[in-house]
Amino acid sequence: MHHVEQAVEYLHSRRQALIDSWLELVRVPSVSAQSEHAGDMVVAAHWLEQRLARAGFDCQVYETAGHPAVLARRCELPGATTVLIYGHYDVQPPGDQGLWDSPPFEPTVREGAVFGRGAADDKGQLLTAVAAVEAWHAVAGALPVNVKFLLEGEEEIGSLHLPALIEAHQDDLACDVVLICDTAAFKPGVPAITYGTKGLVYKEVTLIGPDRDLHSGSFGGTVANPANVLAELIASLKDASGRVTIPGFYDDVQSLSDPERKSLAALGFDEVAYLARLGSPALTGEAGYTTLERRWARPTLDVNGLSAGYQGQGASTIIPARASAKISMRLVPQQDPEAVSASFDRLVRQICGDRVRAQIAEHGLCRAYMAPLDSPWMTAARRALAAGFGREPVLIREGGTLPILPAFKEMLGADCLLLGYCRPDCNAHGPNEFFHIEDFVAGAVTGVRLLAELVGPAGST
Ligand SMILES: [Zn+2]
Repeated sequence: MHHVEQAVEYLHSRRQALIDSWLELVRVPSVSAQSEHAGDMVVAAHWLEQRLARAGFDCQVYETAGHPAVLARRCELPGATTVLIYGHYDVQPPGDQGLWDSPPFEPTVREGAVFGRGAADDKGQLLTAVAAVEAWHAVAGALPVNVKFLLEGEEEIGSLHLPALIEAHQDDLACDVVLICDTAAFKPGVPAITYGTKGLVYKEVTLIGPDRDLHSGSFGGTVANPANVLAELIASLKDASGRVTIPGFYDDVQSLSDPERKSLAALGFDEVAYLARLGSPALTGEAGYTTLERRWARPTLDVNGLSAGYQGQGASTIIPARASAKISMRLVPQQDPEAVSASFDRLVRQICGDRVRAQIAEHGLCRAYMAPLDSPWMTAARRALAAGFGREPVLIREGGTLPILPAFKEMLGADCLLLGYCRPDCNAHGPNEFFHIEDFVAGAVTGVRLLAELVGPAGST
């Protein structure tokens, strides 16, 4: 029997042990946001280090200024493909424990799924890749390609120290392609490859008028009201067709190709169900695009927070001294976040003129990412997923932002494969997070097959 089939069989034979170890890792409350869990972060990092060491990996746990990261390598094949598997062992805080049907850090199996904080995001999903290398190690005593792991403990708090770590270990992390299992399937039973994420520009605008709140009767109509100016500013950021009016905003936008529009349309996205799930009265957005295109492939602008003036009970007739808004823009490939940011600032200052003073702070700046659809890596991933799940994966994009993707591209020159196995409604970050055991096993089988499929591309790149 071929090693691939042996490795798949080995996975199935170890099913219960794999589930047990998955539960064990979920039991470690590695909440990166809360300092009382600093010790748990170290426990989780060493748990992974030891597990990979047993599978023949050369492992290091690197301290950072925050939580440690695990770097593991098994590179015995000169000239062969090297895949870097990125994941994170930190989890979101569990939130209100009363909303959980079983305690977040006492994982339980029910309805064919593991329930617990991190069951899917990302402990369960990253363990599919660990199970895959273990299976190869057990049946072949070797891996079909060179494999490295980079497992961090700060993803849920913004990967603060990851760029410096990658930079410091650029040679150790050198690779041909990055595998990330931290996204979701398209719907139950339909695995997905996410090939694009949006970029981000996040601004906070504070407009300052008089040096204190003024009586709106005595002084109204004589000096600018910062709240009125802010409303004017926000209203002018989009036109009636839903297009953003910041000069140059669309200049570099990579437009949707006809084949891509067709493939998005073919996903059979249910707009009625989507709207019902959101509870909003109607769907709306940039004219000329479908809901999926707006979500995944068109840039957007949204006010995230607003504050000005009197917010207490009853009336207080004032001209507020200041008004502020948090505004985010989600960018698509080829848009330059620096240019968008600078143009936004110029527009704000132009609209304000000398009526109010504008202070502009920046809370986020990141490029969009798009993986090439015609790469040999993509072909390998499609074949592995099709075999692992028994049906062709769909190719999707994501409206959210993953700063590590452009970082890997810039620092390591490698494209990312984002394979998602858990359900899109798996309650990641919310109460009752879960991951179906069948999807976990299919993900591990996909991992086994992907390592074999990646053998091919080495020669062709
Ligand atoms: Zn995650």
